[in-house]
Amino acid sequence: MTVALPDAAALDAADPLAPLRERFLPTDAVAYLDGNSLGRPLGASAERLRDAVEREWAGRLIRGWDDGWLDLPLAIGDDLGRVVLGAAPGQVVVGDSTSVLLYKLIRAGLALAAGRDEIVLSRDDFPTDRYVLEGIAAETGATLRWVEGDPAPDAVAALLGERTALVVLSHVGYRSGALVDAASVTALARAAGALTLWDLSHSAGVVPVDLDGWGADLAVGCGYKYLNGGPGAPAFAYVAARHLGLFRQPIQGWLGSASPFEMGQGYRPAEGIRRVLSGTPPILGMQALRPAIALIEEAGMPAIRAKSAALTTLAIELADALLPDALLATPRDPARRGGHITLDQPGFERIMPALWARGVIPDFRRPSGIRLGLSPLSTSFDEVEVGIRAIAEELGAR
Ligand SMILES: *Cc1c(COP(=O)(O)O)cnc(C)c1O
Repeated sequence: MTVALPDAAALDAADPLAPLRERFLPTDAVAYLDGNSLGRPLGASAERLRDAVEREWAGRLIRGWDDGWLDLPLAIGDDLGRVVLGAAPGQVVVGDSTSVLLYKLIRAGLALAAGRDEIVLSRDDFPTDRYVLEGIAAETGATLRWVEGDPAPDAVAALLGERTALVVLSHVGYRSGALVDAASVTALARAAGALTLWDLSHSAGVVPVDLDGWGADLAVGCGYKYLNGGPGAPAFAYVAARHLGLFRQPIQGWLGSASPFEMGQGYRPAEGIRRVLSGTPPILGMQALRPAIALIEEAGMPAIRAKSAALTTLAIELADALLPDALLATPRDPARRGGHITLDQPGFERIMPALWARGVIPDFRRPSGIRLGLSPLSTSFDEVEVGIRAIAEELGAR
């Protein structure tokens, strides 16, 4: 007996978000399954960038800073907070890369947790998170306490103690796609007197986030994945309002100071979230985030999450049927995963060039993982089927 394959066309026909896919600029890719590494551009983002160059930059020149550029990192931060992060205004700012913001916020978090010198992190976290933490440990003498495997609440709890200053974890694992119970981990850390720093790079824009509701202390995340900000788009940082008064970050640049244009002696931090800034913010780099956040608001995070679960479910069902030798590295329960799945099978690396040549673009993760990132606003169910069928054909052809 053969089990009927799921019907991708029917899923597309019933998808309330399907019309929004037309808002993205065309591509020659037939199956783009890497929206979690680099989101696709919106037509409105191309227009926003053109307007920023022609009207704001060319037209207004240096006057642009007074017209709104100086406040743009905070204005986009507030939009992100409201639409995507569950953060009240005045706690989110855009600027720098995720790596640099991790450095600034971890150092600031250690200073806030004065007298404590241990940091909990995960062996499976994204390299930059681990590397930045290793550098900070070497610089400050802090001790790293590693969670092995998925950072489930009990695994984190086992490492918490009187010396724990900070817990630094990703909300969704970049490889496995596993979704961490951030509310429970935050509550456990808080009960132990420790602060949390969430890396939302693989969840912001695809999984509902509730930083204020969780009681999170600090967070960072990437702008070019599910937030469609474009290559090298600036990242975002969140600092809970209750910490802003004592928050001190290590890169004391003039634009995070209290009165940058007085050019005075001695650094004093700006009031509020502006003190996370260091140098001149990347105004052009953050333009594409605005239309993307507006589209997320139009679609609504609950509908995005529902489509995301349906896309990853379809991918898993197709992989079960068409790639019987591949091992799923992602939780089968949709409530326990984010917007991507990873399948392990030796041989994937060899077929990547052939897939790219066909316009089928998944993501390869060493040693043998094929990662399918299914960005709900730009990915159709048909695209998932086309992609997985192509993978099966290429594997069969070797
Ligand atoms: C993508 C990603 C980053 C990216 O860092 P950049 O400094 O923006 O290159 C960092 N952390 C995680 C968990 C990521 O997924």
